[in-house]
Amino acid sequence: MIPRCRFAPSPTGRLHVGGARSALFNLLFARNVGGRMILRIEDTDQVRSSRRAEDAILDDLRWVGVGWDEGPDVGGPGAPYRQSERRPLYDEALHTLLERGHAYHAWETPEELDALREEAKAAKENFRYRKVAYSDADLARFEAEGRIPTVRLAIPPGDVSFVDRILGEVTVRYEDLEDFVIVKADGFPTYHFAVVVDDHHMKVTHVLRAQEHLLNTTKHLVLYGLLGWDVPEHGHMPLIFSMGGGKMSKRDKAKAARQDALERGADPEALASSTGLPLARIEAFLNRDNDEVEIAEAIADALGVELPEIDVVDFRRAGYLPEALLNFLALLGWSAGDDREIYTLDELIAAFSLDRVGTTAARFDHEKLKWMNGQYIRDASVGRLVTLARGWAAEFGGPLAGVDDAFLRALVALHQPRVQTLRELSEAARVYLERPTAWGPEKTIQKHLLKGQVPGLEALRRARPALAALDRWSDAAIEYAVEALAEADFGGKMGKVAQPLRIAATGGPVSPPIGGTLALVGKAETLARIDACLAHFEGA
Ligand code: GLU
Repeated sequence: MIPRCRFAPSPTGRLHVGGARSALFNLLFARNVGGRMILRIEDTDQVRSSRRAEDAILDDLRWVGVGWDEGPDVGGPGAPYRQSERRPLYDEALHTLLERGHAYHAWETPEELDALREEAKAAKENFRYRKVAYSDADLARFEAEGRIPTVRLAIPPGDVSFVDRILGEVTVRYEDLEDFVIVKADGFPTYHFAVVVDDHHMKVTHVLRAQEHLLNTTKHLVLYGLLGWDVPEHGHMPLIFSMGGGKMSKRDKAKAARQDALERGADPEALASSTGLPLARIEAFLNRDNDEVEIAEAIADALGVELPEIDVVDFRRAGYLPEALLNFLALLGWSAGDDREIYTLDELIAAFSLDRVGTTAARFDHEKLKWMNGQYIRDASVGRLVTLARGWAAEFGGPLAGVDDAFLRALVALHQPRVQTLRELSEAARVYLERPTAWGPEKTIQKHLLKGQVPGLEALRRARPALAALDRWSDAAIEYAVEALAEADFGGKMGKVAQPLRIAATGGPVSPPIGGTLALVGKAETLARIDACLAHFEGA
């Protein structure tokens, strides 16, 4: 039998890095054993799901390099691949369960269920819904009130155990499970029900997902049993914690945006007008009544705050390379058992095995990701980086949007050894594109422009005609001219010429080598910057 794995996101928001890690491990396992990878969209939550979110998830998966063989966009033998299009299969399984007496209608309203939960809480008991014997009068009343029942699964006695491919033997007593809902009042199956029906019909052989689903799996095993279906193998991957501890959650974004807004005493009305969101939603957000990512992001935008990176798109925006993020994600809970860190996708596929997936939470070390990204930037060809930088600028804007290819290539060549992200590369471009209007810091100005036997301003005055006389405005030619002047007038001390030039050209004392820096600024612009700097300090 050909192994079949699946990744099954709910299209209710952007793809979380943890989701991307789950998808990746499924892909690595499937490819390692010559199996197939399925992408299934779990959109039974009609209110929270959207096609826009689905498209964005597919886009993020493709971006990071996790592909699939079957899915809503490419079809396949298990089609359709959206749960909202699979109703007849759920209805059929429901029919079987009802007929066999394994499921029943439950009529409580959400408010009544809340009250039952409160009662249990007051009695210090765990609330577990069990079948209620309604009287005929009750039933008549429920119907007269227009209530629509949910369908719950009658949990049988006994216990269930299985051998988790990652965690080993797991046993759960059925009595710990409540009679959970399998079909909601809107007629749609719950996650638990749909996932089992789909994994069965799509002939999934391995269900690999995060440990947060472990309890869900026990519910699913009951369903497999009652439906008389073969149980796929299960493996539960470790959770992903942030370095500070705690699960890396989308809610962290809401927390960060809210905290910032409250600390600054931001006015809700002003936020509503700058974000274009309704005041009531902003107020609810600030009052902790909701943690909507959309609001968090809009507020962060308006206030110019950076939110924690949680979703794949956050890492895209921060300028990580897809191959670096993929490599990093592969090591979140898996290692080959040695110190190796850098892998291509093909190498990961060859090395991957479930035996080496960890059982304890993996830490998301941002510094390591940055380091890794730097390695990938260093190893990339200039052409690849130019393509990536173009794509990044087209998506996220910044100074690189609209620069020409020659400039971009030169920028990449100059900064490839120095930046860790595409965003840093983009920011590095500013200095070449915008003429400085201030020069500093003061100590540097004193030292490199104003003071000394022959002050830097004089070096600038002498360098100007030497540079103006160059026919070829290249790294090497500029470097050579600066060296020659240093040799002739400054006892061979290149810094005496290069530092004043650097300050004049970039506004400060730090930049790549002077030849490359001025080459990128351009000849006419370099001369103009020297003039502006001289005029400023001579006039002062
Ligand atoms: N739709 C579920 C989720 O996004 C899938 C869990 C599973 O893999 O079964 O969490």
